[in-house]
This record gives sequence, structure tokens and C-alpha cells, in this order.
Amino acid sequence: MDEKPKIEFSETNRGKEQIIVNKKYKYNFSTIKKDNTKVYRCTEYRTLNKCKSFIILNDNKEILKYESSHNHLEKEFSTSVSIIKHKIKSEIKNSPIPLDIKPKRLFDEVSQELGFICPEYNSIKSQLSRSKNKQLFPDITTFEEIPEESEYYRTRRNENFMIFKNSNMVIFQSPFQAKLFSLYDKDIFADGTFYIAPKISYQVFITRTYVTELNAFYTTSFSILSNKNQMTYEKLFEKIKKKCY
Ligand SMILES: [Zn+2]
Repeated sequence: MDEKPKIEFSETNRGKEQIIVNKKYKYNFSTIKKDNTKVYRCTEYRTLNKCKSFIILNDNKEILKYESSHNHLEKEFSTSVSIIKHKIKSEIKNSPIPLDIKPKRLFDEVSQELGFICPEYNSIKSQLSRSKNKQLFPDITTFEEIPEESEYYRTRRNENFMIFKNSNMVIFQSPFQAKLFSLYDKDIFADGTFYIAPKISYQVFITRTYVTELNAFYTTSFSILSNKNQMTYEKLFEKIKKKCY
């Protein structure tokens, strides 16, 4: 072993353990051995480089073995991206109210603290909002656990917003959205998105309508759905139609 490498702990985009060595190389968790030591391989191992560098840590995260020769360039930039994402994600995880988190403010703090090549905020923004959404309602694991009453079920004008819920879906539609939905029912646009869907669900389903007078699209309902079954969609449209007047 040359000089003692400096290691930092991070995670992959999929949340698996990752180690950063000397702010230059990334190692992903590979295997755990019989003696409970963990092997991490250079991320270039799985590429055409097949880099042979690896690092072995014991239970106390002390370095037992380090093969430090790489067959590729240093990855200073991509390691800094990993570290900054990891720091911000752990702030999000530790926050009791993830909705109140301002990722840009966190980014500004963390990037100053890092003080080396730092990625642009835009390059990590989308992944942060994803981990923020996944973190919402961390204690709810099934649709059955979604509460009967919630401050989110009413609009700021104190109108009903949540109009229906069962074990497969929760539908949100304000009275104004219901009115738009019934007045402009000729063309209904619908789209499912997985990106903002909470962990427990399959998708967030949105209906939109085109308001000719305003030459604009308006969202007429939001639903959190557990699946994409025909029955679920039928129920959904039955409910948002029923609401109309
Ligand atoms: Zn390598």
C-alpha cells in the first residue's frame, strides 16, 4: 500500500453503497466475504477498461486491502457529483418534512463546503427531486394506510380536494377543476407519470383539458394509482365524471 488512501462514503444513483477514494476514483460494493469483509470494485471494472483496482473494508470500515493501480484517467468530476448528491440526499433523508427542503439552498451550502470541482446545480436537480418525492410519507407503505383525514385533502379555500379513495387510488380534484372537466369535455388528455409517484404507488395519473377561450391546457384532476388495470381507470373516470355538474 502506498500512502493511506482517504475514503468517503457515498451511494450509487440506485442507492447502493459506493466508496470514493482520494476524491478521484469511485468503487461500488461488489461482494461480502465469509469473514464479513466487504469488497468494492472500481466503477471502471464493469466497463471496457475492466479496471482491476479494488478495496476491501472490514466491519469498522477500515481498509484491509487496497489495489491502487488504475488503467484509466482519474474521475475527479464524477466523484464530486457523487459526493454532492450523497450529501444532499442524506439531508433530505434526515429531514422530518422533506417538502420544505430547498435543494438549491442545500446545494449552495454543500458546494461551498466541498470547495473542489463542483457540478452545476442543474446536473443533479432532477435526481434530487426524485429522492425528495420518494421520501414523502415515509411511514405509509400501503394504500390502506393512507389516512381518512388530512390537511392535504382540502384546498386553500377550504374546498374538498380529495374526492375519492379506495385501496387502489386516491383522486384529487378541486371544484374548479371539476367545473373545467365538465365544461370542456370534448377533448380530455390523460397522462401517467412515474417520476413523481410516491413509493407505494405505480403512477400519478393526470387529466387535462383544453380551454379554447384561453388557448391553454388546464389540469383537471390528479390521482395516485396503485396499478394500470382497466378497472382502475374505469373507476377513476366514473368518479371524476360523477363529481361534475
Ligand atoms: Zn479504476
